Amino acid sequence: MNLELSAEQVAFRDVARNLAAAEVAPKAAQIDASSEFDWALHRRLAELGFLGLTAPEEFGGQAADTVSWCVVVEEIAKASSTVSNGITLTDGMIHYISTLGTQEQKETFIPPLVRGESICSFALTEPDTGSDAGSVRTTARHEGDEVVLNGQKMFISGAAYADYFIVVATVDRELRHKGIRTYIVPRDAPGLAVGEKLDLMGIRGFGTSPVFFDDCRIPASNQLGGNEGFRVVMQGLDGPGRLGAASQALGLTQAAMEAAANYSLVRRQFGQQIFDHQAVQFMLADMSAEIEAARLLIWNAAWRRDAGLPFTKESSHAKLFAGDMCVRNVSNALQIFGGYGYSKEYPIERYYREAKIHQIWDGTNQIQRMIIARQLKKEIEAGAFL
Ligand SMILES: Cc1cc2nc3c(=O)[nH]c(=O)nc-3n(C[C@H](O)[C@H](O)[C@H](O)COP(=O)(O)OP(=O)(O)OC[C@H]3O[C@@H](n4cnc5c(N)ncnc54)[C@H](O)[C@@H]3O)c2cc1C
Repeated sequence: MNLELSAEQVAFRDVARNLAAAEVAPKAAQIDASSEFDWALHRRLAELGFLGLTAPEEFGGQAADTVSWCVVVEEIAKASSTVSNGITLTDGMIHYISTLGTQEQKETFIPPLVRGESICSFALTEPDTGSDAGSVRTTARHEGDEVVLNGQKMFISGAAYADYFIVVATVDRELRHKGIRTYIVPRDAPGLAVGEKLDLMGIRGFGTSPVFFDDCRIPASNQLGGNEGFRVVMQGLDGPGRLGAASQALGLTQAAMEAAANYSLVRRQFGQQIFDHQAVQFMLADMSAEIEAARLLIWNAAWRRDAGLPFTKESSHAKLFAGDMCVRNVSNALQIFGGYGYSKEYPIERYYREAKIHQIWDGTNQIQRMIIARQLKKEIEAGAFL
């Protein structure tokens, strides 16, 4: 067993690390304060090949492995969770289109996403449908060579800036999961409206908004992936969804630990560096151990995906552990800053606000536990624990 990154993976990491330190970190506070998407940084990600890192080369991607992708997401998220969202969202959408799309859909939609010229959002969640994704209410009515969409989506990342949406809708609610279909919907489709940007606690600057469909008409050829909509959505969440969220949580926690460790060497109380108080050391030691554990869980799931092995349980392990350890450790990192951590003078305040999302999106951590438990039951029934 070899847990060293390959030369190519190290090269991706180093480019991402330099970009994060030199160009992303200096803008992160301003992006958070203004809630404005930074197109210039998004295009820089594209120039360096980080949008569509795992996309097929024929559509402009790098065809890199999932481990490289996770490493890049971690490095960018260390500087800004919001900016790293540009990578996770784009790669997720490219994954859907490249695995399910027709040749024409791939040629039309993927290259502009890879070049950072367009944004595609993923519209699953609704006001009354969150964790129970099989119960979506947005309807899709097929009429000849058109589809008519009606309903509302909620919390759609990037919606304020998106040119396209991958919309999850139902052709028949009675069919539950079996009635789910997915469609590529252009922003300018008649009957589509994007609502006001939501005023969020963190991940500001990514234009998270509701989206409304009122007799919204699209060509039937915009359907994505045939009638296997629900299975397809869940497979996408497994890969770019959960592994991206886990890598973002990891990068944020690493940033918080580094900030707290540096501060603990500068701040003095009781005549010594606060680092020398054992209670502070133990918080940092726990952070160090848990960060490493999260990284290994992520790399394991990513490696299994690349090797073509089942990785549903492993990607949920990674998302669950990284999300929980992020919230716990970013809170402890702020604790090390004492009262200064509670002011906007230091970025730790922003890290604290950004941490919580990692227990909520891409399936809450309660849902991750359900996925893991379901897989465990299958393994037990198959005799794995005998
Ligand atoms: C910043 C942000 C960005 C987002 N981006 C997107 C996006 O781009 N596209 C998109 O489609 N969605 C997006 N979401 C939505 C996100 O995925 C949902 O918020 C999430 O799936 C939870 O759904 P919900 O908010 O409706 O909570 P609910 O499903 O109502 O859950 C509420 C609580 O009940 C718990 N719960 C629910 N069911 C169970 C159960 N069976 N067992 C135990 N506990 C349960 C949950 O864990 C949670 O604690 C985003 C959300 C945020 C905040």
